[in-house]
This record gives sequence, C-alpha cells and structure tokens, in this order.
Amino acid sequence: MWLKTSAVEIFNEPGCAKNLAKSEKERKQGCSKQVSPGAAAGGCAFDGARIALQPVVDVAHLVHGPIACEGNSWDNRHSASSGPTLYRTAFTTDINELDVIYGGERRLFRSLREIFEKYDPPAVFVYQTCVTALIGDDIDAVCRHASAKFGKPIIPVNAPGFAGSKNFGNKLAGETILDYVIGTREPAYKTPFDINLIGEYNLSGELWQIKPLFEALGIRLLSCISGDGRYSEIASAHRAKVNLVMCSKSMLNVATKMQKRYGIPYLEGSFYGIGDTSDTLRGVARLLVEQGAPDDLIVRTEHLVKAEEARVWGRVAPYRQRLDGKRVLLITGGVKSWSVVAALQEAGLEIVGTSVKKSTDGDKERIKEIMGNDTRMVDNLTAREMYNMLRDAKADIMLSGGRSQFVALKARMPWLDVNQERHHPYAGYEGIVKLVQEIDRAIQNPVWQQVRIPAPWDDEEVVHREGILKSSTHINPIPRGADGEAYDWNLRAAVSS
Ligand code: SF4
Repeated sequence: MWLKTSAVEIFNEPGCAKNLAKSEKERKQGCSKQVSPGAAAGGCAFDGARIALQPVVDVAHLVHGPIACEGNSWDNRHSASSGPTLYRTAFTTDINELDVIYGGERRLFRSLREIFEKYDPPAVFVYQTCVTALIGDDIDAVCRHASAKFGKPIIPVNAPGFAGSKNFGNKLAGETILDYVIGTREPAYKTPFDINLIGEYNLSGELWQIKPLFEALGIRLLSCISGDGRYSEIASAHRAKVNLVMCSKSMLNVATKMQKRYGIPYLEGSFYGIGDTSDTLRGVARLLVEQGAPDDLIVRTEHLVKAEEARVWGRVAPYRQRLDGKRVLLITGGVKSWSVVAALQEAGLEIVGTSVKKSTDGDKERIKEIMGNDTRMVDNLTAREMYNMLRDAKADIMLSGGRSQFVALKARMPWLDVNQERHHPYAGYEGIVKLVQEIDRAIQNPVWQQVRIPAPWDDEEVVHREGILKSSTHINPIPRGADGEAYDWNLRAAVSS
C-alpha cells in the first residue's frame, strides 16, 4: 500500500518540469520506458534505493531476499566515509527455497537480532526485493515489531526490483527517509547557516572537496543526504534553513516535500566546473540571507569566490595550454551534463557531442546556451553509433561511464571514467584541477601511439611502422602513411586479403 501511494506521489512531482508538461493520463503511466530486447536495462528499483541509501555510513543495510540481490547492489559506487565503515558490510537474509514456501519473516527477524547483538548500529535499513515481495513478506510489520523489541529505528525500504527503474528506486528511497527518518530527532543546536545537501553521494570523496568551501563561509552542513551521512544528522535535517539539491534526477522529491512540510526553500546547484561552483556558492548564500542569515555572508562569499577562482585558474593554466583545442565526446548519462560541458570548456576543450539521455529539458536548454545551436546532443547511442561518432568526429578522448569504455578502446581512443564508478573526485575548485590532470594523462599516454600502429603483414609495412616510430616526437592521434594520408584500417585489411 505504501509503495502504491508513494508511486502516485512521485509521478506527480511538482518540481519536475518534464512531469508537469505531461497530460494527466501520461502522468499516470509513470516515467518508466519500455525495455527493448538486446539493450541494457540498467538497475532495478531495489538497486536504485540501495544506491541512494547505502552512503549512510553508520547504519546496517540489510537486504531481505536471495543473496544475488545483495551481490548485484553491494558497494557498486565509490561512496566514501570519513568514519564508520558498517555501510560496507554486506548483510542479507539470503532466503532459500523453504523460506519461499513458508515465508521469510522469521528469518528477517532473526537477522535483525543478530545485527544488533553483533554490531549495535544506530539504525537498520531493511530492503524489500522481488522474491520476498512476491511471497508476501510484510517487512513493515517485522520492522515495527523488531524496532519495539530492540529499541532502535528499523526502516523498511519498500522498493522491490519490479517496482520500476533504478531512478524510480532513488525516489522511493527519498520517500522512505521522508516518512521514517527526517524530523524524528532534533539537532544539538541550530544556526542561521544550516543547510542540507540532497542527492550528493560523496563519490570518491567529492563531498570533501565541497565541505571546506562551506566551512570557510561559516555555513554548516547539517546533513548530507546521503553521502558520508549519519543517521542522526539526517533525522534532524528538518531544521536546516536551505536545501541544496545536487542531483535533481534522484531526490528532488525530498527537497520539494521538505519545502511543503517544513518550509525549507531549495535550490538546484552543481559543483562541476569553476563557474558553476561559484554560482552555487552564491545561490546558497543568497538564499540563506533571505532566510535570516546576516547580510555580510554575500560579501564574504564574493571574497571567497574571487580568491578561489584566481587560485584555481593559476593551477589549470599549464594544462589549458596542453589541452587547448582537444576534442571530447561526452557520454555522461546526461545528469548535469551542462555542468560538465561548462567545466570542459573552462579547461580549453572542444566538445564534439554530448549525451542527453537522462537530462531534463532545463539541462538541454543549458547545454544549448553553453555550446550554441549546432550542439550535437544525442539521446541514446548504440555502441556502433558511438564508435562511428568517435571516428567521424575525430575526438581525442571520450568521457563516459565504464559500460562504454570498450567502445573507446576499440576505436583506439583515450577514455576517462566520469560516471558514478569514477575513481577520482571532480567536484569543486579542486575537482576541476583533478579533471584536467586526468584528461591530460589519458590523452598524453604513450600507449595510444603504440595501439594505433597496424600489425605488420609485409616488409613494406614494417618499414612504414619503423618510420612512424622513429619520426614520432609527440602524440599523433591518427598515424599517417608516407603520403601523409591517415590510415584507413578497413581499406588496408581489404587490400591485404
Ligand atoms: S530485479 Fe529483483 S531479483 Fe533482480 S536484483 Fe532487483 S530486486 Fe533482486
């Protein structure tokens, strides 16, 4: 019942422009797209809920279902913690055939008891999965009963895989913390500078690149939902003055409902790129002042922005010279791609195309504003199209998620992971320096010179190859023959056969 009610509310999201533009009938159909055979379907709703909540680092995350659900979702992002590590322990009820026949509720209760006896966490999140939902296990009732017994919050996360897409699962996770966590505790003290970050998952420690900026301004992060989050902080998040939404695709519903329930205004921001980092800091300062913070916050923010921008431009300058005019194909999954586009342009790179699969209409407009009308925006690229685009556009590097890395490698193009599995933090002023460093390292890597040389098949080719090796003093993106023509691999293969 909770799931049905939440789904209806999510599909009526007032903060989503795309949703508002739909007719009543279209809105009832939800946002899920029909899965096409052969195409990757992405994660399930359970996976989405797990991704959104697992970064709460001090609680136990217990998956009620077959062990494969746990294996599918455990720690698949590099969400970092500054303290507790319990969130990285994989807890599952690991239900078996007998549980499917007789029900898994007793097993769930026993698992909860074991967790409290061995780890004594401040709270437990219990995740529903397809099998346990289908056999009718009532996790709400078990959580209620166990919570009364053990005296700690036990939160049912009702987002079984079949409920919808990964993104829908993110939103169900948001509904869960709204209904069961936020507003259940009071902070030790309050200040006019308290804010919450929503939809920030501290991937590879990005939160720690943002936090010092707020601290320099005297702004307190009352809670982060959910990167490096603590249960008690999220429980007292309703006392913040402002909410800053980092990923509107995942948890916008938390911000809009907190505005409705607690009167907390929100703004959407991004910390990718120098300009967007500065704009977001200014936006938070402005909104805090509107909520009663002292006026001098705006002046102090301007001073900080000026000093930080001067420092970061100085650090980026040497890389700008090396990267100037290099061409990038950006397949980010689309979320805040405008922000990444702006960040790349600041580094002197030219964007030959960008994906907008998950972008909102607002995101697309921003991309057009930044890149002009001849922007090549693509909704959904097959691997072959991506490969052709790489070759046709003669990009120097592809920035994408891990799933498309092999396309770039097949096209003998440098590749950098900028999606959620990335190993480097790219947020804030520090992040842009790291991003240009990593792009530079990828493009200048000598391996590309080697892999672009064709395998020799006769003496003439060997001479050719040695000539290229001897004459190369810099990275040549496309090896050329003696006539100066770029190699056409297919033609060579056809000639040789
Ligand atoms: S789709 Fe269902 S069975 Fe598969 S991982 Fe998700 S919850 Fe588990």
